[in-house]
Amino acid sequence: MLTAICGINWGDEGKGRMVDLLSSDYDVVVRYQGGNNAGHTVINERGKFILNLLPSGILREGVVNVMGNGMVIDIRHLKEEIGRLTAAGIKVSPENLKISAQAVICMPYNVMQDCLEEERLADKKYGSTKRGIAPIYGDKYLKKAIRLGELFDKKSLKERLADIVEWKNLTITGVYKAKPVTTDEMMEYLTEYGDVFLPYICDTGLYLNEAAQRGKKILFEAQLGALRDIDFGIYPYTSSSNTVAAYAPIGAGIPNRKLDLTIGIMKAYSTCVGEGPFTAEYFGEKAEKLRQAGGEYGAATGRPRRVGAFDVPASRYGIRMQGADEIALTKLDVLSEFDEIDVCTAYELDGKVITEFPFSSDLARCKPIYTTLKGWKKDISSCRKAEELPEEALAYIRFIEKATESYIRYVSVGASREAYIVLEK
Ligand code: GDP
Ligand code: MG
Repeated sequence: MLTAICGINWGDEGKGRMVDLLSSDYDVVVRYQGGNNAGHTVINERGKFILNLLPSGILREGVVNVMGNGMVIDIRHLKEEIGRLTAAGIKVSPENLKISAQAVICMPYNVMQDCLEEERLADKKYGSTKRGIAPIYGDKYLKKAIRLGELFDKKSLKERLADIVEWKNLTITGVYKAKPVTTDEMMEYLTEYGDVFLPYICDTGLYLNEAAQRGKKILFEAQLGALRDIDFGIYPYTSSSNTVAAYAPIGAGIPNRKLDLTIGIMKAYSTCVGEGPFTAEYFGEKAEKLRQAGGEYGAATGRPRRVGAFDVPASRYGIRMQGADEIALTKLDVLSEFDEIDVCTAYELDGKVITEFPFSSDLARCKPIYTTLKGWKKDISSCRKAEELPEEALAYIRFIEKATESYIRYVSVGASREAYIVLEK
């Protein structure tokens, strides 16, 4: 059984907590793309954890976690992240964590380049998380990246590294007029932060294929959402990897296998971190009220998230791109304090009403068209069954379900593991 859990919107939909909830049924949890620009929050009986690189299954005993070849890994960050978990009493070892030899290492100069470029762009910046993600994916496709498996052979590593450093310094000094890096310091870095992972590095594709063959249940955890996918998202305000579920078998190392189930995580309202068009955005007091209610500050960066109404054209597109079989609608409890709730059901583009999500450059000219629903004004955070929900809350769910042509199977009403409701079809 191969299941993907992915984001329908702009990210931060609550994927981490849904993976934590659903991973009890799974043997293996896999991250297949992205790096430590992710921020997945999990709150359970052991505390509150923010995971940037590690799959959310790391918090479950008996679950094997895999970091796939599609990932870009900042090894210093990974070491620190593991350190935080170990300090909280969570065991991380080669038994429950396997890292792909084919995954690439996000280097200090990639982080540096990310910062330098955002600085150069000034008011035209992309709103990068400045974790080096775009530069390292760029290097990967230029074939100038170092893969984790290369750490085993220091001699050939040093040779390749020297060539890469020479090339990278042309950009660092020539384009940005910054201080060059040296091969020796980068080699030291790789040894200091990389060698601890040698026992973890393996052929994760082989491991996963065998696990699938033996009937193990495998869960793929996406980072970000459909609208941040490099091909299908709001380019160039996307991430630099494929966030869609279809990429999961590739980024995990088992392109020979197909997904059995895709669960889309969709937020009951909209949030977006960084720059780019965001049609149903709220501003001023209205935005602040929703941001406060939802605690919408970035898990990875602490930045206030942009907030807005639920966006039907964007979400319906997200559901289609993910191929989501079922949906978990998250953070419904956040809307409890509003008298009325807007839903953006269509856009106005150059005087015409459109219902399909448009091409990125048209999106910037779109204006939201809202339908206003009645709020429920009741605390729903202790509801555990559909019957316990106020009529208006159920009506809101059904409205969204119909408008997005999806099947909402789960509704979450709080951040903790048990705060959710399962709906009948
Ligand atoms: P991810 O990146 O998709 O894993 O999501 P984040 O962890 O970045 O953001 C989701 C935030 O909402 C986290 O702070 C969660 O603890 C919180 N959260 C998740 N589900 C719920 C919910 O149903 N209700 C409330 N109030 N908070 C939730
Ligand atoms: Mg997040």
